Amino acid sequence: MSSISYGRQLIEDDDVAAVEAVLRGDWLTQGPTIPRFEQAAASYCGASYATAVSSATAALHLACLAMGLERGMRLWTSTNTFVASANCARYCGASVDFVDIDPRTYCLSIDALSEKLAKAEQRGRLPDVIVAVDFAGQPCDWRALAQLKARYGFRLIEDASHSFGADYRGRRIGSLAEADCTIFSFHPVKILTTGEGGMIVTDDVALHRAVQLLRSHGITREPENLFRQEEGAWYYEQHALGFNYRMTDLSAALGLSQLAKVDRFLARRRELAARYDSLLQNYDVQIPWQAPEGSSAFHLYPVLLADGTVRRHVFDALRADGIFVQVHYIPVHLQPDYMRSGFKRGDFPLAEAYYERTLSLPLHAALSDADQDRVLASLRQALEAEQ
Ligand SMILES: *Cc1c(COP(=O)(O)O)cnc(C)c1O
Repeated sequence: MSSISYGRQLIEDDDVAAVEAVLRGDWLTQGPTIPRFEQAAASYCGASYATAVSSATAALHLACLAMGLERGMRLWTSTNTFVASANCARYCGASVDFVDIDPRTYCLSIDALSEKLAKAEQRGRLPDVIVAVDFAGQPCDWRALAQLKARYGFRLIEDASHSFGADYRGRRIGSLAEADCTIFSFHPVKILTTGEGGMIVTDDVALHRAVQLLRSHGITREPENLFRQEEGAWYYEQHALGFNYRMTDLSAALGLSQLAKVDRFLARRRELAARYDSLLQNYDVQIPWQAPEGSSAFHLYPVLLADGTVRRHVFDALRADGIFVQVHYIPVHLQPDYMRSGFKRGDFPLAEAYYERTLSLPLHAALSDADQDRVLASLRQALEAEQ
């Protein structure tokens, strides 16, 4: 029997044709398909500007740089996320601290954040940037985050690596004015893919210009921006220390083709999630909570099992059946590289308790009902063995 993954891409003939057309053309690296993909994505999300880059990790790094994050400054994020949401601060020389999760939504806890901000204000150690992650595809409480942002003055990055196509209070993710910018990942397990790839969308023109410059070595060729205008047509200038974080035109062609059918991908993910919701009613697992004021993109379908021992046994049993379940996430503060700087077990107890019991069941647009039934049968057997 073939194996079933927790997440994977759905590539169809038209995606292959779109990439092939670029491959046979003149531009392999950044060419005319990049701005087409950027415009289409910005328009889908309802954002003014978009910058395609080589990964969401690169997008986070550029967003932090564009906000002026540097040594001596502080970034906070949820500990229940992929390490990239925190590492971006350290690339800039800034320090990282974490916020515990809301045990209902698994996103960062607004109560924990409010308390931590109040204490930080007294000590004169407020964060400069907060990265809020729409965990599993479920939007954070953006209204509450915006109130805290107004009160404490930090910049706010929305890590929407999981939530492309999700909605919050009638607006699509990417258009939320609550965040200064939103970043997406187009890794193959995410909602749509470009192979490797990421994007920064924003309504802030200054932030947009900064990430555009930094994406490609800090180099500009635009005549109106040059210090020395009398040089020839070969001429360019480096205005800041940037990177090569460009997306390729091949990737952008794949992204553009995927974007045209992302609504179908999202509908399938939501259909499978609803099917899990109803079929799991008779199982001893806690299904994911859904916010009444929006809709999740369902990047992940994390269930909670009775305890860590049951989770370990169920994980091993499903893997043995060829079902590639996964765990999201090992709290970032428990990574050895973070513990070395002083974080310890017990620092964020709700995220740690969640981590002990969570298991991400397979959920992606290429998953068939029959595959999902196989997951459920294997899960039932594993749970019965625990009783
Ligand atoms: C996948 C992911 C990233 C990093 O994405 P890449 O495109 O692989 O760099 C960042 N944050 C979160 C929450 C993710 O899930």
